[in-house]
Amino acid sequence: MSTTHDRIRIHTGDITKLDVDAIVNAANTSLLGGGGVDGAIHRAAGRELEFECRMLNGCKVGDAKITKGYNLQARHIIHTVGPVWQGGGKGEAELLASCYRRSLELAVANDCRSVSFPAISTGVYRYPKDQAVHIAIKTTGHFLESSALPEIVVFCCFDEPMAELYRRALSDLQES
Ligand code: ADP
Repeated sequence: MSTTHDRIRIHTGDITKLDVDAIVNAANTSLLGGGGVDGAIHRAAGRELEFECRMLNGCKVGDAKITKGYNLQARHIIHTVGPVWQGGGKGEAELLASCYRRSLELAVANDCRSVSFPAISTGVYRYPKDQAVHIAIKTTGHFLESSALPEIVVFCCFDEPMAELYRRALSDLQES
């Protein structure tokens, strides 16, 4: 029987290139595109993505909405809005955990067997990377314990130091 941590993979590269059922976008509340991974996803998916996003009426921090993947290999894009880091006293940890849970719930509801996440909130939203990575791994690990889907979750890191943080957090999860 496969254990939860066998279902979690760590990959270094560009999330827009991944051949998974759904990629997650670190969007903003307007859902109309922005910088960082959001800009990269909108460029790679094409203009039609923005047209579908306009119909969604935005998204709250900690929540998620799903669209088609358009020109991406991924069938779906799950758009979630991470919290802006404000020092840790404004419910940021719970909001970030909620981004992972809500995204995974949408993946299950849409029969996604494989899902890839970027490191939500760790770019312009300034969430401390080590804390954000622990929340990502812990929340996903808990979710997978009670759900057969998604079968595989890929944490897509833009650089090797970030991938190392994920590897460490994953080995902490295995030991706990
Ligand atoms: P946020 O606004 O949630 O902080 P950002 O897009 O600024 O979102 O950054 C989130 C993370 O995504 C950062 O760690 C950044 O290095 C990473 N990132 C940026 N572009 C890509 C990409 N094409 N693929 C994967 N990760 C990316």
